[in-house]
Amino acid sequence: MFEYLESLNPSQREAVLHAGSPLLILAGAGSGKTRVITAKIAYLVDAVGVPARQILAVTFTNKAAREMYERAVRFSPRAQGVMIRTFHSFGAWVLRLYAAEAGLAEGFSIYDDDDSRALLASCLEGEEKKRLSRYAWGIARAKDYALLPDDDLSVIMDDDEFPDVYRRYTERLRQTGNADFGDLILLPLLLLRDHEKVKERLRRHFSVIMVDEYQDSNVAQFLLLRELAGPDTYVCVVGDDDQSIYRFRGAEVKNILSFPNVFENTRVIRLETNYRSSATILEAASSVVANNVGRMGKTLKPVRDNGEPLRIMCFDSAEEEADYWADFIAKNGYEDTAILYRSHFMSRLFELAFSRRGIPYTLVGSLRFYEREEIKDLLSLIRLVLNPYDRVSFLRIINKPARGIGARSQDKLVNFAVSNSVSFLDACDAADSFLSAKAASSARAFSSFIRAASSDIRAASLDEWMLGLVQRSGLGDYYMGYDDITARQKQENIREFVASARDFPSSVDGLVAFLENTALEGAVDSGEDDGVMLITMHTTKGLEFSRVIIVGLEEGVFPPWSADSPEDIEEERRLFYVALTRAKDELFLSWSKRRVIYGKSAYQQPSRFLDEIPPSCVERAFSAYADSEYSVGTPVYHDDYGYGVVIKSWYNGDNLVVSVRFDSGSVCQFLPQYMTLERL
Ligand code: ATP
Ligand code: MG
Repeated sequence: MFEYLESLNPSQREAVLHAGSPLLILAGAGSGKTRVITAKIAYLVDAVGVPARQILAVTFTNKAAREMYERAVRFSPRAQGVMIRTFHSFGAWVLRLYAAEAGLAEGFSIYDDDDSRALLASCLEGEEKKRLSRYAWGIARAKDYALLPDDDLSVIMDDDEFPDVYRRYTERLRQTGNADFGDLILLPLLLLRDHEKVKERLRRHFSVIMVDEYQDSNVAQFLLLRELAGPDTYVCVVGDDDQSIYRFRGAEVKNILSFPNVFENTRVIRLETNYRSSATILEAASSVVANNVGRMGKTLKPVRDNGEPLRIMCFDSAEEEADYWADFIAKNGYEDTAILYRSHFMSRLFELAFSRRGIPYTLVGSLRFYEREEIKDLLSLIRLVLNPYDRVSFLRIINKPARGIGARSQDKLVNFAVSNSVSFLDACDAADSFLSAKAASSARAFSSFIRAASSDIRAASLDEWMLGLVQRSGLGDYYMGYDDITARQKQENIREFVASARDFPSSVDGLVAFLENTALEGAVDSGEDDGVMLITMHTTKGLEFSRVIIVGLEEGVFPPWSADSPEDIEEERRLFYVALTRAKDELFLSWSKRRVIYGKSAYQQPSRFLDEIPPSCVERAFSAYADSEYSVGTPVYHDDYGYGVVIKSWYNGDNLVVSVRFDSGSVCQFLPQYMTLERL
């Protein structure tokens, strides 16, 4: 009958055919959870006759959403109209439909973290300014938990000022007509709660809602899901509590564990076969995560045989580490290969090493691009064209390049706009009454430039229109004032950025769609992934690669110093589990003894997580301590302490340090170079 049904095991098939009650699929990595969702989409449109547009599937990243869409359509061409989005992008879609009801401007923009901070900074006074970062964090968390300024916020932050700061920020944000990132979930939730009609319409629109990676949903997302799901909505969520890695962003594992309590008659299906990884890789990953206390515990059996053992490599410096892997890839090919690291900053050495050797690579999920000055400037111009109430964008760009409108004049413009409830462009037009003649005339010139740009949108393609904007605003010349290399770099960045707008229609709607894509995508997407993937462990969730190389496995890097409570360490361990389980066939792990962090060269010790990998999974010659005679597990004898076993060894500078647990229970560290520690 349907090919995709035949390729499923009995539990997977049961999950695909299931109907009539909520469904929770709780299963370990690589057990086919995502495959079940895609097959289910195909099955629903093919066999059950559900119209594709009635199906909503939510995933965690845009990349995952695209892949799921392609897979579903490959299973069944009828799946074409299905909506597969991230929670945030779904929220943005809802808000576009009901901007007015949600209290947003028609062409609202989405503020990124930087913009939100700028807005928040403008709300803070005196001492409060010192706590900008804390407040920014607190507001984002409050929104994750769907808490409003009037709610009890003490769970978020123990600070008497916080509720008022949050209130002022919210008022100011509403004045701009824009939404911040948290609003993409919070506002749809409030919309559904407050507007019965909207709720009914959306509930009628989607008869099936499925959520992948449900273990990383936060409270606001859970509440949104609950509002969206009417009595007739079929809800299916899938996830793995061992892969919950976004606690720092407010994700709640209890959402998945308590799902059956909230959604009545939930059917729970477990998938216990791992199809992705070789048995050795799976064993290594399972042993690591077994060290976590706070977990449910699951069965996960491999179907594949042992395959290659893991290799753990140690290098003298981070540069050497990057060079080694670049050479390795140059020799062995880059197909289906990924380099995984804990933090974005680690990508740089690899980018350099790859570029030097002409190895193609794709940097995934780097937000850096949009944080660049020239891109943010251009975005501000565009946003102001769409929404003349956008305070952050207005202030960023009104005196850049210098137009003789200084800080005091800017304050006056803002005050005028706010107290008369007019847009910032209107305030510019009326500036004669409150600014000096010179400043007023430049303000008027600025506003007519933006208004003219707005009526020009249709005249050319979007990318040409944007280039025109950069030139006519004077920003083009302004960047030329930088040194040659920087200026050229900025020009190239702008070109790359506008090129990604080419496929959008040249209209206000097209521009809005483009902006939304930018805000949610987080990186310019060249479409095809090509070459080696450079990717953080967090963003690899749900993906798989034939060969995985995890680098920078050092204390302080992974787990990072910031992880200090036992709960934090468990979260980092889950992240390691996610990273390990991305590998299908080959898994390499590496660390280096020296690394420059924050401009300082530091001696590194191997990550404690390396010790948790069973030695039997690792090729002997390539254990982390290959150059040491005291590998983990080596039995030793010491004259004073008696018998013991090596539990860890690492380099401190050039000195080998060995940590031994003796039969007496005591743990001691030795420098074997200077002391006799007999190996047995
Ligand atoms: P993760 O927890 O990492 O998101 P997952 O549970 O979503 O993993 P999938 O990505 O759906 O797992 O599947 C893992 C791999 O196993 C994929 O390559 C998929 O095609 C394959 N697979 C899943 N089920 C089967 C099956 N019944 N027969 C053969 N291959 C399968
Ligand atoms: Mg998956």
